[in-house]
Amino acid sequence: MSERTLEEMRAAYEALESRISAACVQSNRSRESVKLIWVSKFHPIESVRIAEKLGATDFGENRVQEAVEKFTERDPKIHCHVIGPVQSNKLKKAALVADCIHSIASVEAVEKLEKVCAEAGKTLDILFQVNAGEEETKSGLEIHEAESFLLNLENHAPCPHLRYRGLMTIGKNTGVAEDSRECFAFLRSLQQKMLARGGIFEHFDELSMGMTGDLEVAIEEGATMIRVGTALFGERDYGQKA
Ligand SMILES: *Cc1c(COP(=O)(O)O)cnc(C)c1O
Repeated sequence: MSERTLEEMRAAYEALESRISAACVQSNRSRESVKLIWVSKFHPIESVRIAEKLGATDFGENRVQEAVEKFTERDPKIHCHVIGPVQSNKLKKAALVADCIHSIASVEAVEKLEKVCAEAGKTLDILFQVNAGEEETKSGLEIHEAESFLLNLENHAPCPHLRYRGLMTIGKNTGVAEDSRECFAFLRSLQQKMLARGGIFEHFDELSMGMTGDLEVAIEEGATMIRVGTALFGERDYGQKA
């Protein structure tokens, strides 16, 4: 597998933009209401640079170490999203490199992030991951516990260095995009419910859902961030770095 050239990535980006625009039209939403996150995991920094030439500003990485390597030094207009599960001993690194972490699912992680961000004098956006597809292999809060988990945060000591921005999920990944509609709709209803509470949830307006295979359904169900890798960068070469 070889990395895409500028012209190849431009063509892929244009094709993707048509998909996104069509889904926005279909659901009566503005294109600006959906942020595209370029998932550059397993692709080299050269491919990130090409994406930047095409106007990419938001990148997603699954693994903290890879995020650190590619995004520690970056232009201030470039935003780094950590989208994969983060082990407790990597939370500090993740907090320091990321503008937003999408995969938080425990109070311990919240506490540790608050501590690290307070020390660093930084405010970090976080999203809570819900295992809405209910798959054993996926991490995140289980559907039945997600709401009570969030409500419990209201009784927790304040975390002035964290901004609770919303929810993230990974769809069903069955190959049939429609299969994810129900879990995306669940995520939106929970996010809306929390946002309506205000208080610590006053900024809870983001829904990170939809990938290469199911982004149209996610946009129709209210995604404000879609995380797209394969459609932009091509297939990933897991063999090389895994
Ligand atoms: C890899 C990954 C993506 C991107 O998936 P594609 O199918 O390549 O678009 C999105 N979200 C998460 C959490 C991922 O790990």
